[in-house]
Amino acid sequence: MKIDVLTLFPEMFNSVFDHSIIKRAIDKNIVSVHYHNIRDFSNDKHNRVDDYPFGGGPGMVMKPGPIFRAIESIKTSDSKVIYVSPKGKVFNQAKASELSEREHLIILCGHYEGIDQRIIDEYVDEVVSIGDYVLTGGEIPAMVLIDSVSRLLPGVLSSEESYKQESHYNGLLEHPQYTRPREFNGIQVPEILLSGNHQKIEEWRNSESIKLTESVRPDLIKKKR
Ligand code: SAM
Repeated sequence: MKIDVLTLFPEMFNSVFDHSIIKRAIDKNIVSVHYHNIRDFSNDKHNRVDDYPFGGGPGMVMKPGPIFRAIESIKTSDSKVIYVSPKGKVFNQAKASELSEREHLIILCGHYEGIDQRIIDEYVDEVVSIGDYVLTGGEIPAMVLIDSVSRLLPGVLSSEESYKQESHYNGLLEHPQYTRPREFNGIQVPEILLSGNHQKIEEWRNSESIKLTESVRPDLIKKKR
């Protein structure tokens, strides 16, 4: 999979994707991520990419021209252009899974008050929000998308089971996890996990998963019904 990121701050991504699982996925060429500075597509002599909003109001709006030229420079017939914005549909595991099937994603990061609506109307395929709150820029949301989509690509995690058993894959939260030592500060690991009885362990994990979901995310249980 190829991911192109259009941003005013490409350097923000290095610290995140220079480590751990996603770095290995990039090194193995399972995913390639490229950063494009939208400012490089400005043809203003001061490299300006923002301007005052028509109609007045606080803040600045990203101009359509540089974004349009940036998209056009990399878009192909296989590309899906995503604008990350709090005005989009809220991202979830099902969307991550859907996006992981695509050949090429272009992720557009906004800043300031966001981008000129004409870009969204004409050149963006989908607007995706990472939650009902507002961040200063689209770089962190883009990182969230890249991380959650890349880890679903074949060969990135050690086995498909890793994510199939995780929270949200089947609409529930994952069961609690424990590791050594068996006793920590006087607190024991649940006895069942030490029993070696795989069927009983599976039953316990399912029931803990339902219990936890009912307690903290009853909305997910309702959705499953
Ligand atoms: N004026 C916009 C509004 O009220 O919807 C908020 C703009 S925000 C300050 C600047 C940029 O951050 C947005 O263009 C978007 O790219 C990004 N952003 C902020 N919150 C986000 C979220 N929850 N999900 C995805 N992107 C977000």
